[in-house]
Amino acid sequence: MAFKRMVPSQCNVCGGRLQLKYPKVVDPQSKETFGISVCERCELGHTTPQPDDLSRYYGQAYHGNRHGFTARYCAWRREGFVESVLGKGGGKKLLDIGCGDGTFLEGMQKKGWTGVGTEMNPAIAREAGLTVFESLKDAADEGPYDCITTWHSLEHMRDPAGTIVETAKLLKDDGALFIAVPNAQGWQAKVFGARWFHLDVPRHLFHFGDASMAALLQKAGLTQAKRWDQEFELDLFGWLQSALNSVLPDPNLFFYHLTGRASGGGSAQLALSYALGSAVGAAALPTVPAATLMQQGGTLIIAARKGR
Ligand SMILES: [Zn+2]
Repeated sequence: MAFKRMVPSQCNVCGGRLQLKYPKVVDPQSKETFGISVCERCELGHTTPQPDDLSRYYGQAYHGNRHGFTARYCAWRREGFVESVLGKGGGKKLLDIGCGDGTFLEGMQKKGWTGVGTEMNPAIAREAGLTVFESLKDAADEGPYDCITTWHSLEHMRDPAGTIVETAKLLKDDGALFIAVPNAQGWQAKVFGARWFHLDVPRHLFHFGDASMAALLQKAGLTQAKRWDQEFELDLFGWLQSALNSVLPDPNLFFYHLTGRASGGGSAQLALSYALGSAVGAAALPTVPAATLMQQGGTLIIAARKGR
């Protein structure tokens, strides 16, 4: 059966022309093949075609990661990013766009923030007692916000530029917006090309880097206030799993298993993944701080303020 698909014709952020850079990027889960076209001006990568129905590419496990061993650590670090720019909570209002299972929101509430989220699959976070909307429009009524966060959600959206323009309008004048995306112009992305783990097509529809992030902020009337170049375990997994995917038949088995999302693959391959993973991990470990230092990390995290 044929699925309806959308082929992007111009850059979502700057309107520039697109050129096919990677004709063959394999989805590790569905094994389907997609392309990535890159903007001539700002280098934003566009997954092509975009499937009309994306839901079938998200397994049930994708949204629920509460017991993954990195989830709590990850949320704790993000709490630090926010408070390093905006100070302590004290009742300040937070909107987390794409809040997933709500681990980060819960952490912020414990620190004195008033938080709500948006999520296309809100059931898990709602079960945790959180207020979660299904769209940005619904969340707008609760605004304006002191802080809005998009932790690895922007690359999943159909219209990231439109979303950030609308999001900026929900910020208080002295508020801040946090955007974290895989850095498609960093070292990992360059080394692994079409096999880079964090391309994750077609769940990732867009692939940001320095230039496209700058163009995005400008379009939304925002200015970069602070920048980080690493989310440690995502960076390390990026090196690890990209390398493992080059030699093993079942892509991403190691990552899914470690983060509690997985199954299958057989015990022999899993054992091999762990053995190879440990070896590659030891080799990759020093590259994480080096890439971070050079602003070439696997992840790009921006804090932005209103105004130019
Ligand atoms: Zn562009």
